[in-house]
Amino acid sequence: MGKVFKVWSHAERLNDNNARCKLCELVLSAKGGNTSTLRKHLIGTHCIDVDKNDSTNSTPSIASFLVGKPNLSKARTLQIDHRIAAFIAQDGSPISIVNGEGFKSLINFLKPDYNIKSRTNTA
Ligand SMILES: [Zn+2]
Repeated sequence: MGKVFKVWSHAERLNDNNARCKLCELVLSAKGGNTSTLRKHLIGTHCIDVDKNDSTNSTPSIASFLVGKPNLSKARTLQIDHRIAAFIAQDGSPISIVNGEGFKSLINFLKPDYNIKSRTNTA
């Protein structure tokens, strides 16, 4: 089944009862090969929907939502992206948090030249 295969491209079996997420190294329950806990973790923590993703987008990057303005160096943009990704993963927040007005105003306050690109508003 394609679904099962996709889960295991992001996690690895440790034994009959446990699996480890390849993205954050968290050990999760996978009793008898049951992937529901893993799938919930991938969606909730990493915004990876194994039921929806096709082969073109196996590892969604936060860079696709957050885009630096030209005056911001690429290295600095990546740095900020990593910090935001870590913040989202650590708190278990949905990745959609970056589209929230509160989050945007916080980033604008901290880093005026860092531009948040919304997924829905591409203007
Ligand atoms: Zn994980």
